[in-house]
Amino acid sequence: MLRLVSVFERLGGEFEEVVFVHDRPTGLRAIIAVHSTVLGPALGGVRCFPFASEDAALADVLRLSRAMTYKASAAGLDLGGGKAVIIGDPRTVKTEALLRAYARFVDGLGGRYVTAEDVGTTLADMDVIRDETRHVGGSSPSRGGSGDPSEMTAYGVFLAMRAAAREAWGDPSLEGRRVAVQGVGKVGAGLVGHLRDAGAAVVVADVDGGAVNRVLASGAAEPVAPDEILGVECDILAPCAMGAVLGERTIPGLRASVVCGAANNQLATDVDGERLARAGILYVPDYVANAGGIVNISEEFHPDGYDAGRARASVERIEQTVGRVFTTARDRGVTTAEAADALAEERLREARDAGMAPSIP
Ligand code: NAD
Repeated sequence: MLRLVSVFERLGGEFEEVVFVHDRPTGLRAIIAVHSTVLGPALGGVRCFPFASEDAALADVLRLSRAMTYKASAAGLDLGGGKAVIIGDPRTVKTEALLRAYARFVDGLGGRYVTAEDVGTTLADMDVIRDETRHVGGSSPSRGGSGDPSEMTAYGVFLAMRAAAREAWGDPSLEGRRVAVQGVGKVGAGLVGHLRDAGAAVVVADVDGGAVNRVLASGAAEPVAPDEILGVECDILAPCAMGAVLGERTIPGLRASVVCGAANNQLATDVDGERLARAGILYVPDYVANAGGIVNISEEFHPDGYDAGRARASVERIEQTVGRVFTTARDRGVTTAEAADALAEERLREARDAGMAPSIP
């Protein structure tokens, strides 16, 4: 007899709400996952991607929404974790009508989910969505939003590096340090700027030659081929391109003392945090280092509205948070990745036990 895999089984009692949305006139097919609203409204980007199957789309949105819960919790934000995926190639499916239809579904969730930019969606898309719902973060400043979060993400990664330098060498200064940046897109290029200002020497690589040229035109940097960057001898390696770059195959070839970058899901598997620790490499957990963007967006929900100065001050707390992750890892004899998860889970547990109710913006 055919046994249907129960959707509830798949959600494992862990996800609060998963919504499949379909709008026939625009062809919209999307999944919105609310992993947790224990700390507040579930914030997370909407990814537009030509998933190979609906199953792959569901797996991705569940995984990503859970990661947002951890990211917001570790950053000390009063926000939960959520994510959305629109199934299709952004170059063809993403019409204004489709984005508006998507936004109306988000609006229907009454603020339990707050959408934002992600892979395959843009600032301009957030402005279209803003026309239909206020439950969107990171729209243009002219629309009351905080704009592209990349700059604050880059600043946060830079501050995370300072915390790592203090832990590794007893001094947060990055002056004279050699930093290898994999991927000089929106975040990587911003990070290079901060590193140069701090007196670090920068090595860069990108599969897009234009991105490398733009960085070289803006100041000093040593370019290397994309397949060489992970093996560059350096103090800090900053993965700022795609995920799963730290694994069984790549870790033995790393010649960095610290790994700290913006890319999401840098560890290929759960055991790779341990593998890095055994190789004597200090790893700054990705979601702690790259929280600057979400911290910035969270400031839009401040009762007095968004303020860039206050947002910057909030992003600066990342340096302390990373320090706390290192202390916890040392005190408990666990990896830094495990320490970050533990801190995020403890805060969630405390909020749950205290019966904290989410406030909808
Ligand atoms: P982006 O697309 O602007 O930049 C990524 C760059 O990496 C591109 O220039 C691309 O050509 C390059 N790249 C891709 N594959 C590569 C490879 N194999 N080797 C070298 N370069 C390669 O994206 P972004 O907004 O700068 O984000 C970078 C990473 O940080 C992503 O993993 C993203 O999920 C993560 N992140 C971004 C933000 C944000 O605020 N933008 C926030 C949190 C996390």
